[in-house]
Amino acid sequence: MKGIRGATTVGADTPEEIRKAVKELLDETVRKNNLKEEEIVCILFSNTSDIRSLYPAKAAREAGYSHTALYSSLEPEMDGALPLCIRVLLLAECERAEHVYLRGAKGLRKDLKKFAVALDGPSGSGKSTIAKLLAKAHNILYLDTGAMYRACALKALREGIGQVTEEKVKPLMDGLDLRIEYKGGTQHTVLDGEDVSEAIRRPEVSMAASDISALRCVREKMVEMQRRIAGEQSCVLDGRDIGSFVLPDAEFKFYVTAKSSVRAKRRYDELRAKGFAVDLAALQKEIEQRDKNDSTREFSPLCKAADAVEVDTSDMTIDEVLAFIENKIQERV
Ligand code: C5P
Repeated sequence: MKGIRGATTVGADTPEEIRKAVKELLDETVRKNNLKEEEIVCILFSNTSDIRSLYPAKAAREAGYSHTALYSSLEPEMDGALPLCIRVLLLAECERAEHVYLRGAKGLRKDLKKFAVALDGPSGSGKSTIAKLLAKAHNILYLDTGAMYRACALKALREGIGQVTEEKVKPLMDGLDLRIEYKGGTQHTVLDGEDVSEAIRRPEVSMAASDISALRCVREKMVEMQRRIAGEQSCVLDGRDIGSFVLPDAEFKFYVTAKSSVRAKRRYDELRAKGFAVDLAALQKEIEQRDKNDSTREFSPLCKAADAVEVDTSDMTIDEVLAFIENKIQERV
């Protein structure tokens, strides 16, 4: 269950103004959070003491929100409070909460401005773990862009394309049916209608992803999708070129790195835990090869954006990395 916050203001203390403002606030909250009637548990309102002509809860019932428990209360008079303001807390059975601040109340939540966090770096640096935790802490979307390139690689492997070239891959990209979906807050990568979230993690897909992601036709298509997703909501994106190319205006940019031996060991533990038989030395070689591929490709290579903060996670725990990044974010909020 989530608590969705919201607020709005009325031009005057009249029943008509209150009805209009409450309906607009609730309708927008339902729309933004994609809520179904049965997911709404209850709606609690408070309003400043200069609003007396109608209970917001009554306005909500009149606007059709009568299937749920409604409650209104009056706020104490506070110096400097925003006048003629109605606040709402809507409890709903949903995964994420998009808060809604309308009219004069928009200025109440400067922190709700849409923002993007770009986490770039080589494989195994810990980006995805950090990205997931950051997204959860800020209640925003996590987009794993590597999964998208992995899906392209899987498609090429399934089509029997060995050596990938622009000519061979372009038709695949033109007809690509790739969707990024979220279930229970987790990203699912759907290729040709099939959930391939597990399949794209297979070791043979990693190297193929590095190869195919060097192609311009692939990157153009993926970058367009990434920009569209990031344009719609606040999110954390992890990848290789997010801060430098995909979202050069991202509010927060980090370049997460670690020694290749440490990264290889992390991947080794991860793959072993999933039951894959892997060899540590071979994995380190592969990681170094992928680093080379990713940073020397012509179009949009792996690189640290000039304004990104670098974090070497070789000797840091996840909690330490997270605390470092959170501090940097808070310094600038
Ligand atoms: O991050 P992950 O290891 O899942 O990414 C797989 C491959 O996809 C990387 O080796 C890299 O070549 C490519 N990639 C990329 N740009 C991104 C994300 C991943 O080129 N933004």
